[in-house]
Amino acid sequence: MNKLEIVVPCYNEEDILEYTINELQIVLDIMVEDSLISESSGICFVNDGSTDNTQKIIDDACKIDDRFSCVKLAGNYGHQKALLAGMYSVDADMVVTIDADLQDDPNAIIEMVKKYREGYEVVYGVRENRNSDTFFKKYTALGFYKIMQMLGIKIVYNHADFRLMSKNAIERLKEYNEKSVFLRALIPLLGLNSCNVYYDRFERLAGESKYPFLKMLSFAWCGFVGFSNFPLRIITVAGGVLFSLSIISLISFLALYFSDHYVSKYIFMILAFALFSGTILLALGIIGEYIDKIFTEVKARPRYQIEKMINV
Ligand code: UDP
Ligand code: MG
Repeated sequence: MNKLEIVVPCYNEEDILEYTINELQIVLDIMVEDSLISESSGICFVNDGSTDNTQKIIDDACKIDDRFSCVKLAGNYGHQKALLAGMYSVDADMVVTIDADLQDDPNAIIEMVKKYREGYEVVYGVRENRNSDTFFKKYTALGFYKIMQMLGIKIVYNHADFRLMSKNAIERLKEYNEKSVFLRALIPLLGLNSCNVYYDRFERLAGESKYPFLKMLSFAWCGFVGFSNFPLRIITVAGGVLFSLSIISLISFLALYFSDHYVSKYIFMILAFALFSGTILLALGIIGEYIDKIFTEVKARPRYQIEKMINV
């Protein structure tokens, strides 16, 4: 009955982990006391190849309390894969994922569990404000959400990876086999009943961000190319436009030339150049379209999700 597992990805989090364990334990106790979750609920730490004291802190916690568990990965696979490893390893009716630095308010987990009990299978934690973020992080993140929306990628605004998922949601997620994981855009594809829980985002209390600028950029790029073929389409469209324009101009140029008007030969050269680059871009775009199709096939995502079956 209502067993909850909280999955916490940890990469070199020795500075804050003990504090995190304490705080999460308090939240867990409150929920058990209020009979929101079963007594067998626990917390699973995923050590994503930490090179500091993180594992020792986890080991100690697991020794003291058997509600704590640990998945130790063989190396540093990254935040997203650490989350998957945790979610797929635990056995629970619902799983909440939360970062080890507790920038996301752990008390929001209580609200998430209440929403689960109301019947929601996916509950997104959404940041109410970004006051704790630097000016740079705030605006690059907002720009990212805007571009994703423009590209038609379903993604919950201001939601990172703080969320609750039901057992069924996790089973469905297992059908998505892609190797470059971008959970934020994948979860809405599961087609399940979802809602948001709002909270204030705090500053990291200790340790440093494990997402430096380049890693953040590559993560955002993974989201774009994994869920949209727009960057490829631009090449095809640009090639098509350039190709058509240069054909039209070339015909006009030849008409003028043969009707004894003076036209500079340089213009002819420029037009020929535009025609060739247009052709190359168009050809690249067409190849890109095929690569896009291969990419879609290789990802081997399920083609549909069934909401309900009766008497089958
Ligand atoms: N993390 C991880 N593997 C990595 C990088 C980060 O498991 O390669 C974990 C990290 O320990 C933290 C969470 O992912 O629990 C988010 O990282 P961080 O808080 O540094 O990111 P930020 O909040 O700065 O975007
Ligand atoms: Mg953080």
